[in-house]
Amino acid sequence: AVIAVIRETHPGETRVAATPETVRKLIAAGFEVAVQSGAGLSASCPDADYAAAGARLAGSAADAVKGADILFGIRTPSAEALSALKKGAIVAASLNPHQDRAGLEALAARGVDAYALEFIPRITRAQVMDVLSSQANLAGYRAVIEASTAYGRALPMMMTAAGTIAAAKVFVMGVGVAGLQAIATARRLGAVVTATDVRPATKEQVESLGAKFIAVEDDEFRNAQTAGGYAKEMSAEYQAKQAELVTGHIGKQDIVITTALIPGRPAPRLVTAAQVAAMKPGSVLVDLAVEQGGNVEGARAGETVETANGAKILGIPNLPGRVAADASALFARNLLAFSGLLLDKDGALAPDLEDEILKAALVVSGGKIVHPALAGS
Ligand code: NAD
Repeated sequence: AVIAVIRETHPGETRVAATPETVRKLIAAGFEVAVQSGAGLSASCPDADYAAAGARLAGSAADAVKGADILFGIRTPSAEALSALKKGAIVAASLNPHQDRAGLEALAARGVDAYALEFIPRITRAQVMDVLSSQANLAGYRAVIEASTAYGRALPMMMTAAGTIAAAKVFVMGVGVAGLQAIATARRLGAVVTATDVRPATKEQVESLGAKFIAVEDDEFRNAQTAGGYAKEMSAEYQAKQAELVTGHIGKQDIVITTALIPGRPAPRLVTAAQVAAMKPGSVLVDLAVEQGGNVEGARAGETVETANGAKILGIPNLPGRVAADASALFARNLLAFSGLLLDKDGALAPDLEDEILKAALVVSGGKIVHPALAGS
């Protein structure tokens, strides 16, 4: 079977869905791989390395995709690539299925079988192909680096002959994969870190990283985690109690990193404009949920918003794209693992649709949007 990898065309996208390392392994597993020339340039993967790994280099997206059985992508393929893809081919990428209905409809119209990598279940066997985790981890890291750059002070405490610099206070809101890495990164840089989440399981995780856990720990909190491990949308009463707690805390913080998401719903609003207005001059907020509606009131995707009291709200889209080489390396390995589900024992292309991972991720098939979570809307 032939796998195509093309240059991503989404504005600002720097990542690539296969690296020379994974191309070599895909070929060893029995695939052929076609890579569009320049596909890996912004992720530090030159054409020559793909060629040395055994890939066929193609001059255009259409040329790469022509004859391919499978298209691997970071995001939904461009119209150009899709129109060259044969009917019945497989597409595997982050398809942003809850937000990009038009993208799914285009895939359906082309008659391909599309797998949304975001829907891979959070089960042990699937960890190795979990792009949400591999990318969120880097996003959490990069958020702290961006915050530290925008912050006009140092993060660690420093005792110098000219006096002492106080350690920065960092508050992380939402302690999933991204939040945990943000905590760890801020701690490595010497900040004093606090964190909050609505899932009780996070308390111990926060404390094990040397940060302090802060939350409204009522009955609703004790039941806020779904069987799938995700957060529930909290009641208005809970949100009001949470807001009160945050108001008291946030005014003392220097850097706030927000990462809260609820699958299939807009991101919860965790920080109001009034709370931002109560922060000190020079404070920095980084809203990782800015593309899902934002956790911070006033955050705008692609912009740094400076408030009247001298705080900055960073709404950086695609933080993993700012660590393009590592993000691509991990994403590509996730796809390499995923490719193993597409072959039968003899190496023939034969996805087992009874496999719970494929079943959960298949969003488009037979010309239709087939995933139950997406039907109807
Ligand atoms: P996510 O990106 O969906 O959300 C980020 C965090 O925001 C979550 O911790 C969530 O609880 C939190 N949040 C939601 N609403 C909030 C609110 N109102 N206030 C504060 N915080 C709020 O989360 P994720 O990083 O994808 O992780 C989701 C779950 O999946 C976790 O339980 C994680 O441990 C688990 N997980 C499991 C595996 C695995 O076993 N294969 C891999 C990765 C993650």
